[in-house]
Amino acid sequence: MASTAETPNSAETAAEPTFSLALTQDQKDIRDWVHGFAEGVVRPAAHEWDEREETPWPIIQEAAKIGLYGWESMQQFAGDPSGLTLPIVQEELFWGDAGIGMAIMGTGLAAAAIAGQGSWEQLMEWVPRCYGTAEEPKVAAFCASEPNAGSDVSNIRTTARYDATSDTWTVNGQKAWATNGGIADIHVVIAQTDKELGSRGHAAFIVPIDTPGIEQGAKVKKHGLRASHTADVHLDDCRIPGAYLLGGKEKLDERLARVREGKRGKSQAAMQTFEATRPIVGAQALGIARAAYEYALDYAKEREQFGRKIIENQSIAFALANMKMEIDAARLLVWRASWMARNGVPFQDAEGSMSKLKAGEVAVWATERAIQILGGNGYTREFPVERWHRDSKIYTIFEGTSEMQQLVIARAISGLRIA
Ligand SMILES: Cc1cc2nc3c(=O)[nH]c(=O)nc-3n(C[C@H](O)[C@H](O)[C@H](O)COP(=O)(O)OP(=O)(O)OC[C@H]3O[C@@H](n4cnc5c(N)ncnc54)[C@H](O)[C@@H]3O)c2cc1C
Repeated sequence: MASTAETPNSAETAAEPTFSLALTQDQKDIRDWVHGFAEGVVRPAAHEWDEREETPWPIIQEAAKIGLYGWESMQQFAGDPSGLTLPIVQEELFWGDAGIGMAIMGTGLAAAAIAGQGSWEQLMEWVPRCYGTAEEPKVAAFCASEPNAGSDVSNIRTTARYDATSDTWTVNGQKAWATNGGIADIHVVIAQTDKELGSRGHAAFIVPIDTPGIEQGAKVKKHGLRASHTADVHLDDCRIPGAYLLGGKEKLDERLARVREGKRGKSQAAMQTFEATRPIVGAQALGIARAAYEYALDYAKEREQFGRKIIENQSIAFALANMKMEIDAARLLVWRASWMARNGVPFQDAEGSMSKLKAGEVAVWATERAIQILGGNGYTREFPVERWHRDSKIYTIFEGTSEMQQLVIARAISGLRIA
């Protein structure tokens, strides 16, 4: 036991953020409320919207009506000091269905970019507009990826040129695979402001849908997450006011000047957004994995072959035991990273990437195991596990592929520029 002299004084102790796995009553109530919506509204509609491959506006409207979709609720979920409420909400909703879940939560990526890079005034102006109102909900899109800039975000070719006389920016380029691209009211667009500076010259801009020159390109037909709209976005001489640059011109000029002097600038605009949202994306993957595990467990306790329940075979029981263990392990990584992000504890060992990597891989693996446990039924569209498997695969690809997460972790732990 430390002597009194060695014990930190109470002021220092109070400043240290603490982590607890014990959920507050409020968190439990929110979890149960979201679960009720996922079970009663989302899951029964999942098959239909997966087949239709359309944005489920009626369900977004219903979520908005009960206060699950909207600026105020997102503020409440993200504002919880433990950092656990938002991943809990995501896990429950995506347990219901990932395609519909993404149609509801996809706006969060644009909102996170505005919150992370915009001024307080910009946040107050634009984030509520991303969500619209309970009567007329809207969605928003975050547009970083391009046909030749996926993992390699530094290769972004979309440009933003400033005209000081009119205080306007002109944005030109083509964005790829944007969730809600073209149907969003607000597009947050990552563009190059100075080609010489590579990714250090990137900045984030608000491009509202009524800006002349912005339009949806091809809508992407996908393997999974099919109720979530994904499309290219074309930006052709889009002129926007100077105030639509997130963070403002003064801050951008200061940052670019530092980079030109050879000083280290902050990381890329797109990367900053992804770092903050990775645990949240991990929580979505967890929801899919848990849905598959629970379904497979129930099925294995019912299905009989050779005169006994299939769960009475160790190979099936052990698979389920491992699924439960891996899902719980992934959740601990997600909750840790989410707590760290909310409490300003730096991701020194790329804990955000660890959480997303683990949860994404577990989701793909667990949903595949679930298909195996259901046998032929697992492979048909009459049962939901094949959809969950299709949905899960995106979690090893978007917001940084599994390989890119490993790269980030490897660089963080080694301090080396591993290629
Ligand atoms: C459904 C969906 C929704 C999306 N939503 C959005 C969105 O809202 N906004 C947005 O900006 N983008 C979005 N994306 C794009 C997504 O982020 C990219 O697809 C992803 O970053 C991967 O880029 P890529 O597809 O170009 O793959 P590539 O970068 O071409 O990678 C191909 C393969 O090569 C590997 N690889 C590449 N470089 C390396 C390396 N250095 N070391 C080891 N392996 C490497 C990758 O891991 C991968 O396996 C979405 C994509 C999809 C499919």
